[in-house]
Amino acid sequence: MDEIAASLAELRDRTDVLIALYDAEDWLRYANVAFRSTFALEPDETPLWPELMRRNRARGLGTIIRVDDFEAWVTSAQSRRGKVPFRAYETDLVDGRWLWMTETVNRGGWMLCIASDITHLRADERDLRQDRDLAMRASQTDELTGISNRRYVMGKLEEMTVSNLPQQPRDGCLCILDIDFFKGINDLYGHQTGDEVLLDFARRVQPIVRRHDCFGRVGGEEFMLLLPDTTIEEAEGIIRRIMEIIRASRPLTGAPLFRYTCSAGLAAMVLGDSAKALYGRADAALYNAKQSGRDQIIIAAA
Ligand code: GH3
Ligand code: MG
Ligand code: MG
Repeated sequence: MDEIAASLAELRDRTDVLIALYDAEDWLRYANVAFRSTFALEPDETPLWPELMRRNRARGLGTIIRVDDFEAWVTSAQSRRGKVPFRAYETDLVDGRWLWMTETVNRGGWMLCIASDITHLRADERDLRQDRDLAMRASQTDELTGISNRRYVMGKLEEMTVSNLPQQPRDGCLCILDIDFFKGINDLYGHQTGDEVLLDFARRVQPIVRRHDCFGRVGGEEFMLLLPDTTIEEAEGIIRRIMEIIRASRPLTGAPLFRYTCSAGLAAMVLGDSAKALYGRADAALYNAKQSGRDQIIIAAA
């Protein structure tokens, strides 16, 4: 056993394959030598994933990210990161290398990343493969905010309800969040400023969303948060935190006193629930929150 452990530890740091482990909150908890040298990490550093990406972007190291708005890219990448048990994709590095990156996620939300150098492999079809990945991503992403779109979160909602079986019942909650008096914001400040508020909302909520949650924009100023394996009490705590953060936000530099709020309808999944029924209860709860004066959360009766 000791021989196995010792050999594994030695070879993990000799291989050119990149190995890293992130926890459910996306802190880097382990990285081998190949990973650390590729992403310019000191031996004992354990940054948060967005921090690592931000720092390498600033230094011109690591992954090539072909966008002008880096923060928008981070928000969008976080909305996809670790949402499925396994995914694999190609990515290219500033130093010219191409990597085949795999991500494997366990139920606790920890993620193992393993990447191999494929610089010399099937380079001729690379553009085609990258275009395919981009098209796939675009079909799941809301263009304005970069978070998941309606099609994607509705698919995830469907998955959550069909996996709730009598033999193995699961917790799970759905929350619909809708910005209050948004039409008034548009009327007063213009449509473009309205868009800025939508972007502010997405960027402030995304960091609170946990690995297994799914957050997306489902309509104009309406957002959906899916919380699998979460009790109604836990979900309520998370939504209250979100609402608090939105209340404290002052997103408009031109109008520093401007603030906004949102209302929330929260519903817990029950056995035999369909996606439609669960959505209907959350939506009715949201309607009640609006009727009761807005800037509040209403929990649907089971
Ligand atoms: P309530 O508090 O009851 O939710 O009122 P509200 O004004 O927020 O809701 P309402 O449904 O009356 O108006 C929503 C407005 O959102 C109307 C529509 O013009 C605007 N809207 C929808 N999509 C977008 C968008 O992408 N950008 C901007 N700026 N406005 C949008
Ligand atoms: Mg609204
Ligand atoms: Mg609305």
